[in-house]
Amino acid sequence: MPVDRAQVKQVLQAEMERFAETHAGSRRHFEEARRSLLGGVPMTWMAKWAGGHPVFATRARGARIEDIDGNRYVDFALGDTGAMAGHSPTALCEAVARRLGDLGGATVMLPTEDATWVGDELARRFGVPLWSFSLTATDANRWALRLCRAITGRPYVLVFSHCYHGTVDETFVTVDGGGRPHSRAGNVGPAVDPTTTTRVCEFNDVVALEHALAPGDVAAVLMEPALTNIGIVLPEEGFLDGLRAACDRTGTLLIIDETHTLSAGPGGCTAAWSLKPDVVTLGKSIAGGLPIGAYGVSGDVAERIESLQDADLVDVGGVGGTLAGNVLSLAAARAVLSEVLTPAAFAGMPALCDRFVAGVRGALAEHDVPWSIVQLGARAELAFAPEPPRDGGASAAVHDDELDQVLHLFLLNRGILLTPFHNMALMCPATTDADVDRHTEVFSELLSALK
Ligand code: PMP
Repeated sequence: MPVDRAQVKQVLQAEMERFAETHAGSRRHFEEARRSLLGGVPMTWMAKWAGGHPVFATRARGARIEDIDGNRYVDFALGDTGAMAGHSPTALCEAVARRLGDLGGATVMLPTEDATWVGDELARRFGVPLWSFSLTATDANRWALRLCRAITGRPYVLVFSHCYHGTVDETFVTVDGGGRPHSRAGNVGPAVDPTTTTRVCEFNDVVALEHALAPGDVAAVLMEPALTNIGIVLPEEGFLDGLRAACDRTGTLLIIDETHTLSAGPGGCTAAWSLKPDVVTLGKSIAGGLPIGAYGVSGDVAERIESLQDADLVDVGGVGGTLAGNVLSLAAARAVLSEVLTPAAFAGMPALCDRFVAGVRGALAEHDVPWSIVQLGARAELAFAPEPPRDGGASAAVHDDELDQVLHLFLLNRGILLTPFHNMALMCPATTDADVDRHTEVFSELLSALK
């Protein structure tokens, strides 16, 4: 039975009042911040929290956050994956203190041994041998696309509708029901109309993909192996094989963005599902939340890059950044990959997520609410639809702002944070069974309040 919309409005109103009573300090700081911060926040997206203003954080450790009013939370948002290692794990704190304090130097324009260690480890985990570093996953994607266009000499890229790969200009394209591409709604000041740079089709549609690659003018497909930024959309049987075959037939390179799908295991979906990307991109979590991005290329792609005649790869050619590959982020990445996001940790996190998903499914069944939840390793996402959507367009169509708000605020008021742009929960090595069970309890309480 669907939830009662009048009841949703009433519960939301009550939760807004409860939030106002228990978050007066955050409210005051938000108002003061408007003096010097655009939108009252250090980055405009941070305003996107249910309750009318964000909660101001004071401390974060493991899977816990505390706010300025002394409220404590179990954090399932985990910095939208940036804190997948948990907040401030000891190994990271020690490595950063040693690097910045004892050894000294955050950025010195010289490589360190840590970089080689991280390159070797990523090569082992993802099966592509040669790596470079950026400061964000956005830049890893941006530079990977440039390199793919340079070595293929082709102008177009292909993405899936409602994908998100960071603020990469070429990716802000959606496709309508008639197969026509459009600049994505809300695209802020695009440099050029992205439909002139990009082909787009729905996830899980091999026929449309084959059609789009057929002219042989697409340099690369940039994709997540499962969409994670419009709910989670899993690949259907045969889709990823069909996609790889279509790329091979048309000489198109395949870039797999594992920034979020790293939740599937220590080598992301690439290792878990034996995928064969030409390029892998990553970011956010691998340095424990310190700025980093990474892209790894196959031997063949590396050879083609090295034989480029006219590309300026060492100065102002469009690939690179002064702080990219800096000493501190690579020391942090070494600590996180060697001691925190280890294969052993990846054995525990999905099991916790299984428990989370079972709890949610149990509550949905008990209260007879027709929603679904999709899991990808250590990550799960709720959809307000009885069956998980099979592509980005279908997932966007079941988005429901009011339900989003009531879900996030009801949980937040009871000490649980979900990711603000999603209904996403992520487990980190510090998350406990008790944290998961507390979520199940509060989620169930919400469902009974909405009926
Ligand atoms: N790739 C994916 C799949 C992402 O979800 C994101 C951000 N959510 C990015 C890339 C970009 O990461 P960043 O904002 O850290 O550059």
